[in-house]
Amino acid sequence: MKRSSLRDIGEFGLIQRIAHKAKRRDASVLVGIGDDAAVITSPLSPLIKGEMGGVVPLLVTADSLVEDVHFRRNSPPDALGWKALAVSISDIAAMGGVPEHYLLSISVPEGISVEYLDLFVKGMADAAKKYKLSLIGGDTTSSPDKLYISVTVLGRGSERVLLRSGARPGDKIFVSGTLGDSALGLKILEKETENKKVERTGRFTDSPIRRFLIDRHLRPVPRVKEGVELAKSGMVTSMMDISDGLLGDLGHICEQSRVGARIWLDRLPLSRGFMGLSGGYGGIELVLNGGEDYELLFTVGEKDDIFSKCRSTYRCIGEILREKDIEVIDKDGCPYTTKKRGYEHFRE
Ligand code: ADP
Ligand code: MG
Repeated sequence: MKRSSLRDIGEFGLIQRIAHKAKRRDASVLVGIGDDAAVITSPLSPLIKGEMGGVVPLLVTADSLVEDVHFRRNSPPDALGWKALAVSISDIAAMGGVPEHYLLSISVPEGISVEYLDLFVKGMADAAKKYKLSLIGGDTTSSPDKLYISVTVLGRGSERVLLRSGARPGDKIFVSGTLGDSALGLKILEKETENKKVERTGRFTDSPIRRFLIDRHLRPVPRVKEGVELAKSGMVTSMMDISDGLLGDLGHICEQSRVGARIWLDRLPLSRGFMGLSGGYGGIELVLNGGEDYELLFTVGEKDDIFSKCRSTYRCIGEILREKDIEVIDKDGCPYTTKKRGYEHFRE
């Protein structure tokens, strides 16, 4: 049998291959593989009526966290539990939906203690309480070496489920919060762990600014309220959450909407903490390609004023173009060339 390398096709090539080989026509799948969450109906769905009397679709999303790929065993277990659920909640928020239930599957190696798992579950339950989700099942197995966590979240969409595919030339591009904090937080965390400054408990002895950035990495805040507000506005043409980096994820919107985009470097929202500390760690590259921001990235019709319908703060960072390419422009109008575009498993 021919042996090809996953490095050649990458994470997204593999997903496409699986989708192609396993595909089946099914009228109950409104949106399948390719967006932040799947949108499905079932014969029972008509029993659930939405505000406008229509059918409320079910949203489903799954994410895995793997030890030594997504986290280190010595990072705080309660934060790990929070994050494992928060990243999937973020995918439901990215559809403009409300998360409601979740399933937790874990494969646990011998070296993990009961107390570690108690803290992990505490962090997850904290996120579930904050966003009002109930645990309804899952699976538990042993593992030969690493800790594997997989979370599935079910949610409900409003009648306007926001997809990655609706952006049109002329639309403005927005984000829901500052970018690059999480990637910088990870760099600081790795450096401090090396220097033994971070305790296993995750109580950092250092400055509030460092703590803010590390928290943005360890305890992301999914934008559920904002997602619902944006879905209700009726002005959003496409939306997703930023998990793999601004440029990589904007690439998914562009690909699925068959458009291109221009990003204005000087309009990207940065936190004060980021501006103060990013210098030695790669600066603007972390903002464009760092990932794990879990902010919403969305597009709005050219003539629409999103602030007339929404109370949250959003920042306009660019515009959608007809030409199928993404360009980044600095404050003098000169093109900025980046080293890479987003995070992709098997290619790092
Ligand atoms: P996100 O970052 O929003 O979680 P991903 O990039 O992980 O999205 O996945 C992109 C799309 O591919 C999603 O619709 C996801 O459900 C789907 N997908 C990923 N892995 C698989 C798989 N092994 N089988 C089927 N679909 C998959
Ligand atoms: Mg997503």
